[in-house]
Amino acid sequence: VKFPHPRKEEIFVSRSNRFLLISLLALGGIAVLLSIIFSRKMTRPIKALISASAAIEEGDFRTRVAVSGDDELGTLAYAFNRMAQKLEVQEALRKKLTSNIAHELRTPISAVRGELEGMIDGLISADKEALQSLYAEIGRLKSILEGIEDLSQAEASSLTIRKVDLKLHPFLKSIAERFGKAFMDKGVTLELFCDDDAAASADPDKLSQVIINLMSNALKATGKGGRVWLRAVKDKTQVRIEVGDTGCGIKASDLPFIFERFYRVSKGGLGLGLTIVKELAEAQGGKIGVKSIYGEGSVFTLI
Ligand code: ADP
Repeated sequence: VKFPHPRKEEIFVSRSNRFLLISLLALGGIAVLLSIIFSRKMTRPIKALISASAAIEEGDFRTRVAVSGDDELGTLAYAFNRMAQKLEVQEALRKKLTSNIAHELRTPISAVRGELEGMIDGLISADKEALQSLYAEIGRLKSILEGIEDLSQAEASSLTIRKVDLKLHPFLKSIAERFGKAFMDKGVTLELFCDDDAAASADPDKLSQVIINLMSNALKATGKGGRVWLRAVKDKTQVRIEVGDTGCGIKASDLPFIFERFYRVSKGGLGLGLTIVKELAEAQGGKIGVKSIYGEGSVFTLI
């Protein structure tokens, strides 16, 4: 059979071929272009994360990366920023703790050194009274170091938490009984309120350390004729433990700082007690709160 228009067929085939070739090239080009755009889009945040990591390695803890989108890279950037923020806070705390410790130790060490110099120079006689004063200063140094040790133990306590189901009534009663004599001696009433079936999941050693600290503070703050109470209140879903007192109260201007390391209102203490309380409460997944009216009393709450 002879094709009527062989030329036309040839032209058709060659045009089709050319069309296919051009389409193929165009599609290939578009694919390459798209892959460049996407890989740029992917690598830009990765490069940002790499340079931010390097900045943190160099010690610039304020570094953050821009978070865009809620895909995996966005989530990674968000997690990175959270980690950087925590590192920044930890670093600030570490610096503050170091300078706090140096500051706390400087005073007793200078006092001891001054007195010893006076004795060496013959300006102060090394009699019993002078030696006793030196002994007291050394005692203060020792208690500062013990306080710091307690604090670092409390800070690491989340690693050693052993929670059990605690029946609160016998538990709180035994703590209150330990304080009985100290309250009697000071003429302060101690009251315990706790339902027989109140229970909580907590680490007994750490929880008793928290309550003992709060009760010692309450007793210190309360004068003769005052009242301190230890109470467990059952809310709908959880138990709240309260240590309240009718003592001196805390000024509103001091209240935001009382949980900070070495912050103290009254003389004598180290200002570490409440920091330790907060660390121990949080290590058990709890939270500590306070309400106080200056001149009327305070209530510390543990949830
Ligand atoms: P410290 O170990 O020196 O007692 P804390 O960290 O326990 O220090 O407490 C910080 C400050 O908060 C203390 O100086 C104290 O004056 C004040 N404070 C703590 N508890 C009470 C309270 N129940 N009533 C009044 N003041 C309190």
